[in-house]
Amino acid sequence: MQLAFDDITTGSIQFSGIKDIEVSVLRLDKIHPVISGNKWFKLRYYLQEAKEQKKKRIITFGGAYSNHIVATAATCKMSDLEAAGIIRGEEPPSYSHTLLKAKEYGMQLHFTSREEYHHKKVPAELLNDESYLICEGGFGEKGAEGAATILDHTKNDFTHYCCAVGTGTMMAGLIKAALPDQKVTGVSVMKNNYELADNVRSLTNEKNKEWEIIHDYHFGGYAKYQPALIGFMNEFYRQTHIPSDFVYTGKLFYAISDLAQKHFFPAGSRLLIIHSGGLQGNISLKKGTLIF
Ligand SMILES: *Cc1c(COP(=O)(O)O)cnc(C)c1O
Repeated sequence: MQLAFDDITTGSIQFSGIKDIEVSVLRLDKIHPVISGNKWFKLRYYLQEAKEQKKKRIITFGGAYSNHIVATAATCKMSDLEAAGIIRGEEPPSYSHTLLKAKEYGMQLHFTSREEYHHKKVPAELLNDESYLICEGGFGEKGAEGAATILDHTKNDFTHYCCAVGTGTMMAGLIKAALPDQKVTGVSVMKNNYELADNVRSLTNEKNKEWEIIHDYHFGGYAKYQPALIGFMNEFYRQTHIPSDFVYTGKLFYAISDLAQKHFFPAGSRLLIIHSGGLQGNISLKKGTLIF
């Protein structure tokens, strides 16, 4: 398995009706068919530390559709580490595509009740000094340090970096890597998750960087969607040939397009939108919902 970082920054794309700013996309969805998007970046320094500490197994947490779970499974396989995933909820009669993939990559799956999951309880048989724990979604300082290296794979002549925000780890990394005159705009994919700013702040000590999180484009909440979002994703694909996912990047592209129509970004701005992957999540949608 190899990751490919060449030619992943698009030229200026046409966002309908928007003329006064330039928009490019960093296509992290293209770096690998399974470990796509931001997850490899967030994982890289955790895995490096696990190796340095001679750990044998990575343990992490996620739901049945988690991009983080499948990326951890694939990355561990690539790095010769065992992987165990603590999955939220009872074992389902049939596994999601995500869980099947994770299993295919050799991850051991441990299903836990929502209650136990909430407390991030690790099964006793996994808790030993050969195990290395990574938080849900890769949240943490090493995750942010890894995410900061996302910007090594593009030029730095942008005025704004725009990204979807789940745990805020990627956003914290982008803030670290941004130059002082570059702004980072995050779009939260959760409803009213106002703790996010504190979470981001806890991972960066960057006082003189400008960033903000927009909370108006959650479409009902995490992994929720509405016809307007799906319609936008299809139209955006027709215009740009860029596929997006309904949990993260669809909401991001929608938000940036809408904000740009409302002249949120000053004329002359040059935006880089981070396509953070996640396309595997679309498999859970009814067939025919999306045109790609
Ligand atoms: C996990 C994920 C995010 C969110 O990253 P955080 O660092 O948790 O904020 C964004 N986009 C996609 C596609 C993801 O899978």
